[in-house]
Amino acid sequence: MERATKEIAHSFGVETEINGKNLLPSYGELSVDLVVRGIKEMTGKGSDYILLVEDRDRRLESHSDKLVSRPPTLCPGCAHRAMYVALKEVLGDSAIYSGDIGCYTLGYLPPLRGMDTCFDMGASIGFASGLSKFVETPVVAVIGDSTFFHAGLPALVNLGYNKSKVIVVVMDNSITAMTGHQPDPLTGLMEHNGPSVIIAKRPCALLESRRREKVEKYRVLEDKCRACRVCVIKLGCPAITFKEKAKIVEDLCTGCGVCEQICPFNAIVRWKENGGSVDSHVRFGKGVHSGIIPKCKADYLLAFEPVEGLRRANYLSTDGIAIVNEEPVHPVSVSLGSESYPEIDEVLLHHRISQ
Ligand code: SF4
Ligand code: SF4
Repeated sequence: MERATKEIAHSFGVETEINGKNLLPSYGELSVDLVVRGIKEMTGKGSDYILLVEDRDRRLESHSDKLVSRPPTLCPGCAHRAMYVALKEVLGDSAIYSGDIGCYTLGYLPPLRGMDTCFDMGASIGFASGLSKFVETPVVAVIGDSTFFHAGLPALVNLGYNKSKVIVVVMDNSITAMTGHQPDPLTGLMEHNGPSVIIAKRPCALLESRRREKVEKYRVLEDKCRACRVCVIKLGCPAITFKEKAKIVEDLCTGCGVCEQICPFNAIVRWKENGGSVDSHVRFGKGVHSGIIPKCKADYLLAFEPVEGLRRANYLSTDGIAIVNEEPVHPVSVSLGSESYPEIDEVLLHHRISQ
């Protein structure tokens, strides 16, 4: 961008200093403090703000042991989750799952572990075709509908030509979910004697939640739950948390009903409830030039979850107010037992110290 700006300035005879990637990182998100650092390099102004942010970041860093990780995961109610569970039920861990790039790539994470390879966009079917010529175990190619139309079709034709014994699963959620919900060409069902294609079709959970005003959610009947953790270990739905017994976070549940089918003790039942979750910066008043609140400048921090609030504590100004919901929402890693959620009193104490 700066090169083009320099060219335009030069063509108009404008003599001025033009900076860009020499002062800003060439990749990653441009946060307010990174931009202020760049401006400081140019103008010498902004040192006070940078010192303030560095102090707050240091203080937050000292609470890092309380910041239980919350890795990305498939959305609650995502149809891909049920497909991964079904594939594992039928073909088990001995099959090789050749993956591709899209929101469904998150299925490689525990507990689903639904992908063994992920190379580049459209590689799943070609990889699977090659693998099938050398291994005896079943080979499955997993690809989303948008990726399929973008780069999977030629590989599927090649698969047919080479008569490769591969099961192709097209995860059709009727949308390009990862890059902003763009539409894609409609898919149809294909079957062949050699290669076989399964089209797993169900709209993206986010798309469905926008379409439906009322969602019929699910809940766990405490007296029926035997704490077997099957719903957590098999599904890993972020709406299901576990502490002694399973519990469904109503705000996150999109009502897909897959957990009801998975629970061996019929402890999960439908429960009618409206709801939704919000994560946003809100600014109002005179002189608002951007929707993004810089670090150390928020007057209020409204945290719907204690640890997530602590993770953003460095956004609150020194005399700002944190309003924190004390009910934890455990990430999948905690429900699976690979991480521990800190004691709630400790988290709240760190909220106070971090200011
Ligand atoms: S119905 Fe069950 S699996 Fe589906 S979103 Fe709700 S808690 Fe998750
Ligand atoms: S699968 Fe059913 S019984 Fe087992 S922990 Fe989940 S809700 Fe409880």
